[in-house]
Amino acid sequence: EVVNVTNLTKILGVRLEMLVRTMHRLGMENATHDHLLNSDEASLIAMELDLNPIVDSEAAIDLYPRILPADMSSFPLRPPVVTIMGHVDHGKTTLLDTLRKTAVAAGEAGGITQHIGAFSVDLPSGKRITFLDTPGHAAFSAMRSRGANVTDIVVLVVAADDGVMPQTIEAIKHAQAANVPIVVAINKCDKHDADPRKAKEGLLQHGIQLEEFGGETPAVEVSGITGLGLPELEETVVTLAEVLELRADKGGAAEGVVIESQVEKGRGTMATVLVKQGTLTVGSYIVAGTTWCKIRSMTDDKGRPVKEAGPGAPVKVIGWKEMPNAGDEILQAEDEALAKTVVENRITKQQRETQLRDLEVINDKRRKDKEAGTMERAVEKAQRKELWMFHHGMIKDLPDAANIINEDDEGDTKKAKVEVKEFRAVVKGDVSGTVGTVVDCLNGLCTPEIKVKVVGSGVGNITDGDVQLAAACEASIIGFNVKTDRKIQHDASVARVPIKSYDVIYKLLDDIKLTLGEMLPPIV
Ligand code: GDP
Repeated sequence: EVVNVTNLTKILGVRLEMLVRTMHRLGMENATHDHLLNSDEASLIAMELDLNPIVDSEAAIDLYPRILPADMSSFPLRPPVVTIMGHVDHGKTTLLDTLRKTAVAAGEAGGITQHIGAFSVDLPSGKRITFLDTPGHAAFSAMRSRGANVTDIVVLVVAADDGVMPQTIEAIKHAQAANVPIVVAINKCDKHDADPRKAKEGLLQHGIQLEEFGGETPAVEVSGITGLGLPELEETVVTLAEVLELRADKGGAAEGVVIESQVEKGRGTMATVLVKQGTLTVGSYIVAGTTWCKIRSMTDDKGRPVKEAGPGAPVKVIGWKEMPNAGDEILQAEDEALAKTVVENRITKQQRETQLRDLEVINDKRRKDKEAGTMERAVEKAQRKELWMFHHGMIKDLPDAANIINEDDEGDTKKAKVEVKEFRAVVKGDVSGTVGTVVDCLNGLCTPEIKVKVVGSGVGNITDGDVQLAAACEASIIGFNVKTDRKIQHDASVARVPIKSYDVIYKLLDDIKLTLGEMLPPIV
């Protein structure tokens, strides 16, 4: 098997110059672009570059989700997956808690409510609904930004005593952008000052065409506290699900998505997986992102051990090599060897991408240096001209060089002066879902003047390594629901690394916005 130099750069994902330099280092004289290399030479080069030495086509082995037929009618219906959204304090958490409690009460005796990121409710009609446990659109859009469209239906909670509020409108926008249908839950209807009519009118004004006004969106009056209207809400969701004809194939390799992941003391790494297609079974192999798992055991949302889990079922899966990320796609591999190969390939690919990105950063810096050089040269030129004019008696004093840069030079100067500031951050959070959300929200704060760059992120308390990374990158550490011990705090202050800790996401964002504002140059 042979490969030419140009093709090898593509396979390895490196630039030609880098490859040529490596070849010279290895004593390979002929490094022209069409020079043919045998597989031993190619492997040697790859190893020298710390890349996967397998450079044949097998290196591209990966797993892919199945291609579903256009006509799914022969497959069984699956439970709808519901996310609860709405304004803060409108009762999302309370509603979820009450729904979860009824789910356990209706189930087997002795069941205890478990927070695993999602739970299923069995209705008297035999139908089932799966609720995602993290309310709010931040989690919803974080999952979506990772390509995981898990939500089939959004339950939009609007408090009857408060009506439509800013986050209600945001939630509507998110649901509409994702093309996910809405069921409205007018909440807190037990309160004496509840005014469901007003809430509904507010929704109409924001483009929600309610059924009772001739539109398509159902609304149910409920109370998360008394349980009023919850059976109707559930039935409404199920009816909508029937219209949507949500179906899945129980057979074949399992596919799903990671809802939440964490390390639990004494039990190791675990992840809640929501099955989308196929059936997960204990003992099988699954891959998520750059980690894999031989499923050692699974428990359902009521804490009961299960041997298998089909479409729509959330299960906690134990046996991961490393912790997967919330939003990662899960795919089943036939055996351990395949799972390992796929993960290795993905890691290699990631490394290549990082190398390419690094190269881009280096090139970017070179370009900026060059621009800065242009600026210096422009000033120098102006100064020389100024001196010449001074010597020839054309000017009496030596004015500030910058003021006499001629027009041509000025263009360069202006270009060089456009400087985008960068706020760098290392993000740590308690669970992978929130870390993803914080990172996404931070990225959302970028403006043309200030770039927000997350140089590192992860789950767990703030460590020595985080401080070192932040110090090296001149970054701040942002902790969400995590602890910082005294030693770390001390080290950070010595290294001049600011540590900011939060437990409320909007406070975090408000505070970072302030910091960004302070970084802006004063308006003159
Ligand atoms: P979230 O921020 O949307 O998750 O709202 P919470 O579930 O934390 O509820 C905010 C407040 O409203 C809490 O004090 C709840 O006890 C109260 N609350 C939630 N649902 C209801 C309800 O149906 N009726 C009444 N009276 N109070 C409610």
